Amino acid sequence: MGKIVAVANQKGGVGKTTSCINLAASLVQLKQRVLVVDLDPQGNATMGSGVNKSALNATINDVLLDAVKLDAALLKKTEAGYALLPANSQLTMAEVQLLSKPAYESKLKKILTPLKLRYDFILIDCPPSLNALTLNAMVAANSVLIPMQCEYYALEGLSSLMVTMKQIQTKLNRSLTVEGVVRTMYDPRSLLVKEVTHQLQTHFGKLLYKTTIPRNIRIAEAPSFGLPVLLHDGRSAGSLAYLKLAKEVIKAQALGQQRKRRALAHA
Ligand code: ATP
Ligand code: MG
Repeated sequence: MGKIVAVANQKGGVGKTTSCINLAASLVQLKQRVLVVDLDPQGNATMGSGVNKSALNATINDVLLDAVKLDAALLKKTEAGYALLPANSQLTMAEVQLLSKPAYESKLKKILTPLKLRYDFILIDCPPSLNALTLNAMVAANSVLIPMQCEYYALEGLSSLMVTMKQIQTKLNRSLTVEGVVRTMYDPRSLLVKEVTHQLQTHFGKLLYKTTIPRNIRIAEAPSFGLPVLLHDGRSAGSLAYLKLAKEVIKAQALGQQRKRRALAHA
């Protein structure tokens, strides 16, 4: 049974999309079946996967509004080997229309839950806000992966994300957990980065990934080629970092499944 992971942080430009598509490509390299769901009207994950967001017959927008069936929008294989549910700017309108639908916050969950049989990981690229789309992602998800830049205001943003998660846990998705926190555009030389890292370690403990993603020019270039960095320059520091992160994610998943099996055996 696969796992749904929302890649979220309401702060803009922290590396959500970059982490989503590069982690997806790395998981594919490690033999996992992966689906990326673009849930951001900016359509960055779509374009970064080499898909022209303006030339699509159907997108996640149409699926959310019941205008088409899932398979009409699903792109089964991008160049990096993962499947993609693409998005474009129409998703902004879809979000507004979604609000008038009954149980609108569970729409995405309904769409994605059956897909857990087809994929090992379903990664949702969230928009930079805590809106109805992000709410849908967090209701659908088993866990939230939080990319963050070790900056002065980063922790403040993180605490409002945790408050939102707590609210969702009490009302709509009891089993939602933090998948992990990943430090992006990381520069270990900065004093501030050391300070923020220390606070993250105190707060998140084992949930702070050991892997850090360095600021790397190849990562920044790759979307202009419509490719994850692994396909743009497989030997770059950025590629190696995302591969390492993928290994951490798989290891955590395997450990979680082991624990579940043990709990069932003891029940
Ligand atoms: P938004 O909130 O707008 O959706 P985001 O959180 O998805 O943004 P990205 O689009 O992934 O952030 O990254 C923001 C910018 O930083 C992009 O131009 C991206 O190419 C660049 N970037 C992300 N990670 C790295 C990195 N490790 N090294 C260099 N550039 C990076
Ligand atoms: Mg993004």
